[in-house]
Amino acid sequence: MKPDPAQLAGLMARESERFRATHPRSAALHDRARSSLLASVPMQWMVHWSGGFPLYIDRAEGGRLTDIDGHEYIDFCLGDTGAMPGHSPAATVAAVIAQAARGTTFMLPTEDAVVVGEQLSDRFGLPAWQFTLTATDANRAAIRYARGLTGRSKILIFNHCYHGGVDETFALLAGGRVVAPATSLGPPVDPAVTTEVVEFNDVAALAAALEKRDIACVLTEPALTNVGIVLPEPGFHASLRDLTREHGTLLIIDETHTLSAGPGGYTRDHGLEPDVVVVGKAVAGGIPAGAYGFSRDLADQAAAATSADDTDSPGVGGTLAANALSLAAMRATLQHVLTAEAFARSIALASRWSDGVRSAIAGRGLRWHVIRLGCRAEYHFAPGPFRTGAEAAAAADQPLERFLHLYALNRGVVLTPFHNMALFCPSHTEADVDRSCGIFGEALAALFGG
Ligand code: PMP
Repeated sequence: MKPDPAQLAGLMARESERFRATHPRSAALHDRARSSLLASVPMQWMVHWSGGFPLYIDRAEGGRLTDIDGHEYIDFCLGDTGAMPGHSPAATVAAVIAQAARGTTFMLPTEDAVVVGEQLSDRFGLPAWQFTLTATDANRAAIRYARGLTGRSKILIFNHCYHGGVDETFALLAGGRVVAPATSLGPPVDPAVTTEVVEFNDVAALAAALEKRDIACVLTEPALTNVGIVLPEPGFHASLRDLTREHGTLLIIDETHTLSAGPGGYTRDHGLEPDVVVVGKAVAGGIPAGAYGFSRDLADQAAAATSADDTDSPGVGGTLAANALSLAAMRATLQHVLTAEAFARSIALASRWSDGVRSAIAGRGLRWHVIRLGCRAEYHFAPGPFRTGAEAAAAADQPLERFLHLYALNRGVVLTPFHNMALFCPSHTEADVDRSCGIFGEALAALFGG
């Protein structure tokens, strides 16, 4: 069931007016930025926040944000996962301050690199790690290695995935053909040249694609998250692993978002055996850092393929990658912040929120669904769970999503834009969860009456 479009437009106009009236300082900075920032925002997608202009932030702590107009919000966006453990965790802040005073980047390692390598090895069961500044960079590097080590040129992704700004992953399946999404800006080549795309959970299509034996790697999240959460069906990961092994294709598991499942991500939680794991966003508590880890076998192959005498760039890495500041932040975050106890608390809150939102939906007889992966939870405007990215994409409803987002924002709750998603950290409280569920119920009342 969907609201009447005219009524929705009217409600949205009212909420937008309220947003503008109550955020004069953010509005003024947005206007001022017209003469210095592209599209008046520092990063293109900030233009898409509901309300016509983004909030400008004064400060944040734990699960709370304060904007420059002095409004405090319960923050369930958490920087779209970059601040998953909560904003500015004390241990991370202390490590960053200490390292900043001792030098931030040397193009040489510190002890922290070794400790972080050990931490990640323990968590994900892979023994050989490298560092980047972002998950995007980690994915790019992992793909380069996969191509270099297999001698194959193509990669395989699942329809409607997202892995950051990685050229090969901007590809969609449309009518059985691989095409560039309409929004893809300046694709370097026709993505059909570099990329095979199949639907998530479609084992037959996966087998048919891998049989050609021209695929260097499958790059996937263990559950899709960016088109909405699409969980693997029972047996899907086992088939994915068997088929990739059978056809000499490497398996790269991108845990950037699915780290929400627990300290070792979905990989550890479900005993997956990837050749490469990618992490990013939250792993350094909000300081830029990404990492990719290789299995023993792949690490040996990589060592054999690269020569110590070779000083040229192999196409991976960056001057600031593995800098001392990022690694100090990652060490503190892994040791003291992203702990098993922290996940247990965040996951319980996400579960409480899912129950609350589910019961508000059921109370209205809507055929929507709520889905959760660890401390990440979201609602969708169709029955579920979704089996494929295409199914999830078909259920998206931007006007409705934007209204629910702005309605919550105007009442002191920040949800993640573009995902209908709420992310929970240990500093959130049960009262925060209940307040957000109550606001969601009020929004449904505004939409559907009563
Ligand atoms: N992998 C996944 C699964 C992601 O969702 C994202 C970003 N949303 C990335 C990689 C890229 O992360 P970043 O933008 O920090 O490089």
